Amino acid sequence: MEVKTSLLDNMIGVGDMVLIEPLSEDTFIENLRKRFEHNEIYTYIGSVVISMNPYKSLPIYTAEKVEEYRNRNFYELSPHIYALADEAYRSLRDQDKDQCILITGESGAGKTEASKFVMSYVAAVCGKGQEVNKVKEQLLQSNPVLEAFGNAKTVRNDNSSRFGKYMDIEFDFKGDPLGGVISNYLLEKSRVVKQPRGERNFHIFYQLLSGASDDTLKKLKLDRDFSKYNYLSLDSATVNGLDDAACFRTVRNAMQIVGFMEDEVQSVLELVAAVLKLGNLEFKPESRCNGFDESRIKDKNEMCELLGIEQSVLERAFSFRTVEAKMEKVSTTLNVAQAYYARDALAKNLYSRLFSWLVNRINESIKAQTKSRKKVMGVLDIYGFEIFEDNSFEQFIINYCNEKLQQIFIELTLREEQEEYIREGIEWTNIEYFNNAIICDLIENVSNGILAMLDEECLRPGTVTDETFLDKLNTVCAEHQHFESRQSKNSKFLTDHSLPHNCFRIQHYAGKVLYRVEGFVDKNNDLLYRDLSQAMYKANHSLIKILFPEGNPAKVNLKRPLTAGFQFRASVGTLMKNLLTKNPNYIRCIKPNDKKAAHIFTDSLVCHQVRYLGLMENVRVRRAGYAFRQAYEPCLERYKMLCKQTWPHWKGPLFFLEEKRRQCLEDLATLIQKIYRGWKCRTHFLLLKKSQVVV
Ligand code: ATP
Ligand code: MG
Repeated sequence: MEVKTSLLDNMIGVGDMVLIEPLSEDTFIENLRKRFEHNEIYTYIGSVVISMNPYKSLPIYTAEKVEEYRNRNFYELSPHIYALADEAYRSLRDQDKDQCILITGESGAGKTEASKFVMSYVAAVCGKGQEVNKVKEQLLQSNPVLEAFGNAKTVRNDNSSRFGKYMDIEFDFKGDPLGGVISNYLLEKSRVVKQPRGERNFHIFYQLLSGASDDTLKKLKLDRDFSKYNYLSLDSATVNGLDDAACFRTVRNAMQIVGFMEDEVQSVLELVAAVLKLGNLEFKPESRCNGFDESRIKDKNEMCELLGIEQSVLERAFSFRTVEAKMEKVSTTLNVAQAYYARDALAKNLYSRLFSWLVNRINESIKAQTKSRKKVMGVLDIYGFEIFEDNSFEQFIINYCNEKLQQIFIELTLREEQEEYIREGIEWTNIEYFNNAIICDLIENVSNGILAMLDEECLRPGTVTDETFLDKLNTVCAEHQHFESRQSKNSKFLTDHSLPHNCFRIQHYAGKVLYRVEGFVDKNNDLLYRDLSQAMYKANHSLIKILFPEGNPAKVNLKRPLTAGFQFRASVGTLMKNLLTKNPNYIRCIKPNDKKAAHIFTDSLVCHQVRYLGLMENVRVRRAGYAFRQAYEPCLERYKMLCKQTWPHWKGPLFFLEEKRRQCLEDLATLIQKIYRGWKCRTHFLLLKKSQVVV
């Protein structure tokens, strides 16, 4: 057994943290370091996989490795993400249990890479045949398309996911793939118009300009030179080791495999080009007799030609704003600053709607062609926890999503596990852990959570600004906290005198984050002037028309659209409920250093992640508890041949009456313990009240 050899061979550390002696934070980190130095990037805590980002490519994802791990028991070989993928897949196929793979860790820790390894492993081991291979290929090729449009270089990660992604892969009863469904969560669309220093816009812009043929660029009226476009930051336009031109070819090819028609690809690229053109739109003031300035587009913009919009229609939409209320229509002029604001709002909306359209279009291609019951494996890869110098609404949303995932981990591996032992009357010494439920509540509580307060402020009549929102927060959260215990959610809303005037600070599970309120109200409202939607709807371009359905004058809807925060909270809530119906498999990704560098292992950084991920508590619960559990029926089924009462006259697990079944299991338990003792393993084989066997 590998666990034994790794215990003996101290050089590469221990494969399962449960086996470390003595267990302390120091030995835990030391073990990770040793393994990292020997390119052993995976380590177990029972069935949880810790994955350390090697920041270099390792020869451990080959076809031979896939064969090695295929159909092998989890602990049989050295720790590997393939072992987890194999276990999840076999459990889905053979025991009919829907699975989900929960991949967590901060930005740059390796979640997206891990999700791709899981997907490619499952694709390699499931089903064969032309049709099945086509499904697999389409599922896999959805990745490069979504990464091109939804990922970007940030200071933390050169390929950072700027959206959350959950993909259900669906299988038939044999375990052959049928198709999939992707859900996306709030794209960080502010990046389209502005990128923080040292970061880039979404990859697709650079890929298109670098990789498209001269002919394509000419058709799109684009120039290869990044510096021609206001929306593309120049200080980090190229990324070391990233070949944008080659990526563009990969994306084009992937779109074709996924099933995009040539004219659809063309339309998509036209919209990407239109966003770049939109960024170059400039305005000048024109004085009106009433003393106000009205904005005018400075020069003719090629965006109109690309999208088939009349220049005068666009011009009008950037000069006036119409507000409709019941039977009344009031038109006000836009000044230059308002026109720039409207331009950026349109660019953000155009791009994010294009992204959602892409996800839907991919879903259309990859959806299962059958209505029969499916077995499902969900793979969750979201944007990781982020702390930047400047944190805004986007980081707030991203970090909230990470809190929710941490909450699932805590609930299932720390809280419920311990409570179960207590319920079963098994002697148990409580293991303390930090439960982040209070932080989730601080953010999402429907009556006085931060998101609810933001919504209230956005919907309030009168003058609403980011400052009035902050005042409200400070009144409700900060002032009340003096009267509440330290364990209340408001104690996670930090106030001190060092706080800059336009900021609030939250003590997240993964660290303190200072959020600047500027833009919160606006980003949450996410309003687009109706004149602009109507101008887009008038375009002679099939795709853009679909993206702005509210621009159809025949369908004027005076209802206020749901806020971004409200929608996000609701979709995350649905996702959590969905995940809880499946059997969870955890991959906890850790970043070894902050330099995106191979070979560097920064103890303090790793220690910080180990602490906030609750990994020490996880090992303690695992060590004190029982590593294996199985329901009565499958246990009987699996070991039937060991026991006189069940073999050779086996009639299925449900054949036995309740009492008889228990007797059989007890006999089996004694037998299995004897076998284990022969292996010199300390084991207990217990029958739990909840129809479960634990070892
Ligand atoms: P974010 O939250 O920002 O999306 P992430 O956790 O998804 O971050 P990844 O994009 O998966 O992070 O990984 C960051 C980079 O680290 C990758 O682009 C790759 O260079 C490297 N990397 C991660 N995992 C591995 C691995 N197993 N082998 C080799 N390189 C890796
Ligand atoms: Mg990612």
